[in-house]
Amino acid sequence: MDHPLISPDLLAIMQCPACTGELSEQREPPSLVCGACSRSYPVRDGIPVMLLDQADEHDTSDAT
Ligand SMILES: [Zn+2]
Repeated sequence: MDHPLISPDLLAIMQCPACTGELSEQREPPSLVCGACSRSYPVRDGIPVMLLDQADEHDTSDAT
């Protein structure tokens, strides 16, 4: 694999803000994906945007 999206040291301490699950890199589009809840967080210029309102929530059926 060529250069990572973000520092492996940073990735190691990051966790999903929604469920504290483990995150993994996804290259297209650049993002971090939670293995537990499947949310994905965009990575912009090497900086992960860990905001819940920016997260791409795969399950959109929660209409409250
Ligand atoms: Zn999660």
